[in-house]
Amino acid sequence: MKTDVCILGGGIMGLATAYNICKSTNSKVLVLDRYGVGNDFCSSNDVNRVFRCSYGSDELYTKMTVSSLDLWTMLERKSGQKLLIPTGLILLQGQNSNSNGFNEASFKTLSRMGLGADRLDKEELESRFPQFRAPEGFFDHHGGLLLASKALHTFHSLAESHGVRFAKATARKVVSSDRPHVTTEEGQTIEFRKLVVTTGPWTNSLLEDRLARITPTRQQLVYFRPLNRLDLFRPEKCPVFFTDEHYGLPAGGIDAVKVSPKELSEAVDPDRANRSVDDEQISSCREACKRFVPALADGEVVRTKVCLYDMTENSDFVIDRDPEDSKIVYGYGFSGHGFKFAPLIGQLLAQLTLDEDPSFNLERFTAKRSKRRKPVLGAHLGKGE
Ligand SMILES: Cc1cc2nc3c(=O)[nH]c(=O)nc-3n(C[C@H](O)[C@H](O)[C@H](O)COP(=O)(O)OP(=O)(O)OC[C@H]3O[C@@H](n4cnc5c(N)ncnc54)[C@H](O)[C@@H]3O)c2cc1C
Repeated sequence: MKTDVCILGGGIMGLATAYNICKSTNSKVLVLDRYGVGNDFCSSNDVNRVFRCSYGSDELYTKMTVSSLDLWTMLERKSGQKLLIPTGLILLQGQNSNSNGFNEASFKTLSRMGLGADRLDKEELESRFPQFRAPEGFFDHHGGLLLASKALHTFHSLAESHGVRFAKATARKVVSSDRPHVTTEEGQTIEFRKLVVTTGPWTNSLLEDRLARITPTRQQLVYFRPLNRLDLFRPEKCPVFFTDEHYGLPAGGIDAVKVSPKELSEAVDPDRANRSVDDEQISSCREACKRFVPALADGEVVRTKVCLYDMTENSDFVIDRDPEDSKIVYGYGFSGHGFKFAPLIGQLLAQLTLDEDPSFNLERFTAKRSKRRKPVLGAHLGKGE
């Protein structure tokens, strides 16, 4: 089989890339996914994901959220689908100094960049958002809830309508000599001119040693339905929220509020990870709710899910051409906070694939292990989601 562009991985990043390549060129694009597009194992498939502009003092990511917000709006217009529900984001101050520092730095950055942020004292907080308890909070006006599975299907159908082909197969080996090709576990050989690798938590098996590696981690999500007043937790009334060690999304796309730990839990083999949620995690989410969102603390658990992060050492993404072979483009290591950037990352990976100049400086996202920025203590804190 021959194709112009072969994309490994049909999660949100692979699909967004396929769409961006096909909407501006006549290239033949093939997306391979080991479990099929829209599968339940990939990191992209869940009811909802956080959108936020708050990135502490990190101006690069903050600027990228602004571009991404425009691109989500364009995608909604193009597809006729509502994908991003604006809710705002409330960053609740607590006892964790890393989280508190991140919240305050986000407030300052958003204010300095003219993006809209409010500081709320206890009284203002409780009168504006009676769901929450905290001594202080910062409100990011652009926070919101992305309907994740719907966005995945939207990219899929737009890509399909532009002629992208899809196959269920597992890439085993990439050979990039004079006749570049991928071999699959199912016995196919696929020749390509360009290859894009967006295989999320499974990427290490396709990487040479000189390239940045990832650690797949197991993350647990719990959906609570409050015993009373679900209306207070609908997106029209309830913002996305961050507490000391947890984050939550209002009941959008499902009649329940998602709560999950921000912390990384455990490194796993992506093929063997336990996909059920532990009772201790449910208890820890309830404890966090007791302090910050009391009406949820006794809520009924209506859904749980385990998803894998693909963590780089410093939580920065990898978005780069192979430093030694420009036929190969990498997009991985989205470290638990990539979804909100999917339309932008799709655009950037398409630009790299089509030999165009990327619209952002991608120095920080280098694939070259030796050029990566050193991790800072607690770098992941406030970076997930
Ligand atoms: C619990 C959780 C919560 C999150 N919350 C947020 C959030 O609120 N906001 C936010 O911005 N981000 C969030 N993220 C991060 C975001 O969801 C991910 O960064 C994003 O979905 C990654 O997409 P991807 O396409 O790179 O990977 P994936 O969606 O994992 O897709 C990779 C695909 O590659 C396929 N594949 C793997 N190996 C091969 C192979 N050898 N051959 C062929 N196919 C292969 C897999 O089957 C899979 O379908 C969260 C992630 C998790 C896990």
